[in-house]
Amino acid sequence: MVLGKAITLVESNLPEDQQQVSILLEKIIQHTGSSIRIGITGVPGVGKSTFIETFGKLITSLGKKIAVLTVDPSSQLTKGSILGDKTRMEELSKNPIAFIRPTASGTTLGGVANSTREAILLCEAAGYEVIIVETVGVGQSEVAVKNMVDFFLLLMLAGAGDELQGLKKGIMEMADAVVITKADGDNIKSATEAQAEYQHALHLLPSSPFGWSREVLTCSALQNKGIENIWELITRFQKQSISSGYFTENRVQQNVTWLHDYVDYLLRMDMQRFPSLQKEMADFENQVAHQKISAQSAAHHLLASYHAAIKKS
Ligand code: GDP
Repeated sequence: MVLGKAITLVESNLPEDQQQVSILLEKIIQHTGSSIRIGITGVPGVGKSTFIETFGKLITSLGKKIAVLTVDPSSQLTKGSILGDKTRMEELSKNPIAFIRPTASGTTLGGVANSTREAILLCEAAGYEVIIVETVGVGQSEVAVKNMVDFFLLLMLAGAGDELQGLKKGIMEMADAVVITKADGDNIKSATEAQAEYQHALHLLPSSPFGWSREVLTCSALQNKGIENIWELITRFQKQSISSGYFTENRVQQNVTWLHDYVDYLLRMDMQRFPSLQKEMADFENQVAHQKISAQSAAHHLLASYHAAIKKS
């Protein structure tokens, strides 16, 4: 599949591939942007893949093309994905108007984030109207995903306690809506209680942009309950944010942030061309870690060495 191959290309770190990516993106950029980009996060086990499977079925039944991209930075650290080898979203993956890309790979979160953003553009150019970017909710990946989507959804379990859910400070503020998963069987009562509890917690937070009031919904992906409400909420968010101007403004900001991130990324990559600099970086990391030198002056030294290395080359 052409789209799959193009995404493999954006995930490559080889300079010649990167050059091809630039040419490709240049060609398609005018054909991008016409989707709703939805970020989904939640701890492993909260029910993300089951939710996306059921949600994806709803979207495709409406005749819309859906793409699912996953950001899983843990896979670089452990050399194996936290998502495991099991086939996720098995039914959806067989649907001809759904595209599922398991895991963006790379050596840094920055690298993974770049390739995911490029993958979003490729999916849009290929006509996908709903793009899901799923993160496994570890480290900084939620922030990276929040910065590349229009709508950010936090999935939560009822009665699991905030700590158990790895609920980091600030994640509630990032969410445009919260969904309590697995609201079925014996779990219905606790899901409804959690809904009221989190709704109260959200009211205490500063109001979100353009006066959007964050809502807490419940759903059962296994029993296909509450899924339509979530899609209705997302389309309402999209309409309101477009008419308020926020939708465009947010994307403009994201594009500019992307440029800045990419310049940082390219500089870091370029520095890696010089082995002596890598050694110096390792030495400075050690010294900074043990407070022998400030991070600031170490960075200045490294920049000077980088300039010197370029002159020599
Ligand atoms: P992920 O790790 O967040 O992607 O979570 P999964 O989608 O793999 O789900 C984790 C477990 O929760 C699996 O055993 C699912 O069958 C179960 N699960 C997911 N959604 C539901 C639901 O709506 N109701 C119930 N009862 N179980 C669910």
